[in-house]
Amino acid sequence: MSSYKLKCLSCHTEITDNYNIVCSCGKSGFYRTIYENRQFNPSNENNIWRFHEWLPVKSPPIQKSASNGKESKSEAGKTVVYKSKGFAKELGLQNLFIAFNGYWPEKKANILTGTFKGLEAPPSISRAKENGVKRILLATAGNTGRAFAEETINQNFEVLIVAAKSANSRLWTTKEINENNVKYITLANGNDYTNAIELGKRICNEIGVETEGGARNIARRDGMGTCFLEGVAEIGKIPKHYFQAIGSGTGGIAAWEASIRLIEDGRFGDQPARLHLSQNSRFAPIVHAWKARRNQIINEDFRIPPHEMSSLFAEVLANRTLSYSIDGGVYQALSDTNGEMYAVSEDEAKNAMKFIYQTEEIDIVPPAAVAIASLIQAVEQEKINPNELVLLNITGGGIERLKEDFELIPLKPVIEVKNPQTDLVEIAETCIH
Ligand SMILES: [Zn+2]
Repeated sequence: MSSYKLKCLSCHTEITDNYNIVCSCGKSGFYRTIYENRQFNPSNENNIWRFHEWLPVKSPPIQKSASNGKESKSEAGKTVVYKSKGFAKELGLQNLFIAFNGYWPEKKANILTGTFKGLEAPPSISRAKENGVKRILLATAGNTGRAFAEETINQNFEVLIVAAKSANSRLWTTKEINENNVKYITLANGNDYTNAIELGKRICNEIGVETEGGARNIARRDGMGTCFLEGVAEIGKIPKHYFQAIGSGTGGIAAWEASIRLIEDGRFGDQPARLHLSQNSRFAPIVHAWKARRNQIINEDFRIPPHEMSSLFAEVLANRTLSYSIDGGVYQALSDTNGEMYAVSEDEAKNAMKFIYQTEEIDIVPPAAVAIASLIQAVEQEKINPNELVLLNITGGGIERLKEDFELIPLKPVIEVKNPQTDLVEIAETCIH
């Protein structure tokens, strides 16, 4: 049983979670979960529910086996953390730990949708169900949609997924999807992730569907934070450095918040991990703002127009909706941890991808390559000492490995629309029953 309150990070008032949280202060800061159990107490299960006491879900979901009717906890995967040998040696690092999120059965890595979004979907859907929410909508660049679609089967829930057509190759599941569970609304060619967000907002406001909440959703942040918790469970203390590629920045915030909880426990160290976060060099708004030590993103930080964003190497990082200046956002996380930002070129990321395949023998997704390239930059620039504890978040991988064991079933759109300004009547008739 998890018991928690939420703290408004604008006014520090504690409030009760009722899904659509609105603090009376009227400011728009993030809420942070304050768990009643301040002690880090993971169980031995090989799934995300081992961190249940630090997830905003009262009881982990129960699944009934179709073959024998036996009840068990839902089969959501988790991060696997191991000490790197080959790659660490090449870099000259003595204490490099890899947090691998994806599918790699030889290492017991079991996230079937291949990225750390598989950590966000299970607690998000559980929390929505516990609060009586019937369906949620999410706008996605692909990875999040895939993770939520797969999890609807584990928990028998309904999601509306909104994505641009360019995300199609990332939208698949390993199990047959029932149309009652997933309604995929696709935006025609020429639209991007930002257009998907815009259409998603309209559907929520005008048709009255609950939003999944994005970075504001505590279940997503704390779900993501389990990656860092897994690292500390394996290493035994808070690492000195933490590397991850970011889009909106939520992953960095989640690692920072996990650090804060572990410091309060008292047994794992008294300093948060230093955040080393990275973006594509062609689209690096947070890099530009942080290098200037600005607490605001300005238009000049975006540098490329929206229609060029789908041509980026790690397209899923190209997010124009950033969790940067908000109370509890990336600016505060970087300030509190003496953080660093890195811009990574396409060549650097591609080389990193090859390098990790040669040394660790696993395929990874483009954002993970950006994070690895940032670690290579940090070593070259002597920002870390060779014996310091480093946790590198490989945010996704093993999709090629997955194809050996599973058939990937593409999500089929129930409707295609031209642009975010489309009339919503047809969407309402097709998707809401
Ligand atoms: Zn408040």
